[in-house]
Amino acid sequence: MSIKRETITLVGAGLAGSLLAVFLARRGFRIEVYEKRPDIRRESAGAGQAGLAGRSINLAMSVRGLHALHQVGLKDEVLGMAIPMAGRLIHPVEGEKVLQPYGQRDEEVIYSVSRGELNRVLVSAAERQDGVRLHFNARCTGVEFRTGVLYVRDDATNHVHSLRPRRIIGVDGSASAIRTAMMNAGRFDLSQQYLTHGYKELTIPAGPDGAYRMEPNALHIWPRGLYMLIALPNLDGSFTCTLFFPHEGEYSFDSLQDPAQVLDFFGRQFPDATALMPDLPALYRGNPTGSLVTLKCFPWHYRDRVLLLGDAAHAIVPFFGQGMNCAFEDCTVLDECIEAYWPDWGQVFESFGQRRKENTDAIADMALANYVEMRDLVSDPGFQLRQKVGFLLEQRFPDLFIPRYSMVSFHRFPYSEALQRGEIQDGILRELCASVSSAEQVDWNRADRLVRERLGTN
Ligand SMILES: Cc1cc2nc3c(=O)[nH]c(=O)nc-3n(C[C@H](O)[C@H](O)[C@H](O)COP(=O)(O)OP(=O)(O)OC[C@H]3O[C@@H](n4cnc5c(N)ncnc54)[C@H](O)[C@@H]3O)c2cc1C
Repeated sequence: MSIKRETITLVGAGLAGSLLAVFLARRGFRIEVYEKRPDIRRESAGAGQAGLAGRSINLAMSVRGLHALHQVGLKDEVLGMAIPMAGRLIHPVEGEKVLQPYGQRDEEVIYSVSRGELNRVLVSAAERQDGVRLHFNARCTGVEFRTGVLYVRDDATNHVHSLRPRRIIGVDGSASAIRTAMMNAGRFDLSQQYLTHGYKELTIPAGPDGAYRMEPNALHIWPRGLYMLIALPNLDGSFTCTLFFPHEGEYSFDSLQDPAQVLDFFGRQFPDATALMPDLPALYRGNPTGSLVTLKCFPWHYRDRVLLLGDAAHAIVPFFGQGMNCAFEDCTVLDECIEAYWPDWGQVFESFGQRRKENTDAIADMALANYVEMRDLVSDPGFQLRQKVGFLLEQRFPDLFIPRYSMVSFHRFPYSEALQRGEIQDGILRELCASVSSAEQVDWNRADRLVRERLGTN
């Protein structure tokens, strides 16, 4: 790659920041990265996770994230520490568990990966690049846009440094200090919408000799209408469970506090999971309750000087498993904008925002809608029938009809296209399934006509 030797300053060495440092260094830029936390690689796995208190300990990774990793040669390393999950394994209160496959081809799986391990791999990859310098315990406390001064406090000594970087990229997550500074600079749109539900992480430990105590190659869901529990496998045989639950109300984090009540509630609602969680009351009491927010803002850049990327620009709720995938796809797209417009940074930043904004808005909306699907619809026979008919339509029209989940997780269509086509497809499925109770009863001639009319190119 060409030698550019211009310096770019990144604030944040989380998932997006450390990957972005790799992308930019490969283009020949010098990179200075300021990260408020200590070096995650110097912490034990447990401490690293505690340092991320309130953040999910494992994540679902799919094609957009994998593609970005592939571009910088890290895909195989990450896949080596990931567990494939072929579908949702639904746990009803009573009765048999049901596996709902995510896709219908062997490669259509998503992967469970440890957030801490992934971050370690990415930070090490950044450090290996020529021209990258990482500064830990280095917290950005603000930016003065008028003078271009970036303030960074050394959290070990409390000393505040003033820097004058030419170019800053804020990859400092959903509570971004760079975004706050941008807002203070004026003419900046910002909306944030908190869910009335929050989340708490719990653990199902490994069995003897690190054996999994449930099916490892699935994302487990206990859908209960207004709330749900999910579990993703870890490499050590354990599962990280997340309870998504109202903050307030009859059944809520507010009302459910007493250990005996917790055990009783879990025992009634999630009996098989409860039997596998010996530390449930202590974990429930000790682990923090997190909030879930959708954050949209624009513009993402200030002149040719400052850009927001990843959660700093667009935080979404986790129900499509896409926040990190979307942030990694940001890195792919920014790299393409640099290829097209560098050294005109104003144009690089402008085109990045233009290409990404409608797509990040679309995945934000799809992620919100997916909460209802996960906690409620997955156990609805009508939803299950539509999903089955959707797969059959994909077999008949592989180029025209691709289920929405697959468009988002197994293809790299722009999210806005997945949203738009997904709505048309949902209309078709609802019409076809309105008065039938099995896929065999579907009027396939009508199906062919509807797909060609509404999804065909002419
Ligand atoms: C419960 C939950 C489950 C999730 N599950 C999934 C999933 O399954 N799949 C998926 O794709 N996504 C998932 N996500 C979303 C994913 O975690 C985020 O989208 C992703 O972490 C965004 O990466 P980022 O680098 O932009 O932000 P972050 O990962 O938050 O990184 C920001 C970094 O900036 C640092 N920083 C912050 N402020 C400063 C400052 N002032 N100065 C210096 N450094 C600073 C932070 O310490 C951190 O290292 C989930 C999120 C949650 C909350």
